[in-house]
Amino acid sequence: MSKKLPVLLNPYIKTRFPYNKLKICRRCNNFTVLGESECPVCRKFALQNVENRAASILQRSMWRSWLIVLLIMTVGLVMSESTMQTILFAAGSLLLLALLWTTQRRSTPALLLSQLEKLFQKEAYTLFAGLVNDREMAIQVFHSGDKPLAFEMLREIGALVHTDQLRVEQILLLQSFVLRKDMDLMLDPLLMNHFNPDLVEYIGEIAKIRRDLIKENTFRYVMLHEAQILRMEHGESILVSVTGAAVRMKRYISLYPYLIMRYARKLPKDRFLRLYRIIQNSPSSSSSSLYEEVMGIYNEKYKWDEDFQLKSKEH
Ligand SMILES: [Zn+2]
Repeated sequence: MSKKLPVLLNPYIKTRFPYNKLKICRRCNNFTVLGESECPVCRKFALQNVENRAASILQRSMWRSWLIVLLIMTVGLVMSESTMQTILFAAGSLLLLALLWTTQRRSTPALLLSQLEKLFQKEAYTLFAGLVNDREMAIQVFHSGDKPLAFEMLREIGALVHTDQLRVEQILLLQSFVLRKDMDLMLDPLLMNHFNPDLVEYIGEIAKIRRDLIKENTFRYVMLHEAQILRMEHGESILVSVTGAAVRMKRYISLYPYLIMRYARKLPKDRFLRLYRIIQNSPSSSSSSLYEEVMGIYNEKYKWDEDFQLKSKEH
């Protein structure tokens, strides 16, 4: 196995919607998720947020409606034959303008969203090409040797492009780093449907350093591919670590009792102690087979262990 690199990764900045970081170039129309203002294709400082682009298209169409109303107003005023007609026409037009103004104001958020959808539909191919170009840039950075930056770039693209190829590339890079607890790591977005040993190894590491990232999707993945994982060199210890993460919450213990039963015996003492305490404190579990298994292991291995007698705070 090659030596792992100690690296510093910039934290991942989450946005409300994945497209919030997507930018479009005012000069060459290139889409990108990399870069703040400089377009990676034409090198002009002309990047604009896609939402701003949609807003300016919308504003233009709103101005058009205003112009039409103003035009009608002018023609009507010029053609009116008496003062009364002029007053009535002016009042009517002002009412219309007020109505237009209120409707436009009220419906702007919805209109903006539909404008954004239209933009994505109309520019689907350019958008796709832009993101392909982003990925190529990340691969170039990787070949130039800056692995952490390459990873950060792939992570940004991965927020919008959900392909297994991109996930595998991110996992391989992560697996070449020394992972630490304080890093901004993620797991759910990297899960795939099929069995992938690199992903499994990564899950094993996460289960050791960031148990909180192991959630339902990961448990399901691991159970689905359990037989294949067991055939891996450290497969069993990965499954034990994942089980150690499952005993973190009572909910997971009741959701995945069979996974826990299969690996409870191999859990490190602190994880088994936690499982033992949770099982002991839930009266409904006393008739279950998991309860019997846990009590069996307790009687066999920990009956005389002092830590099991103390009622210390759960961790
Ligand atoms: Zn450009």
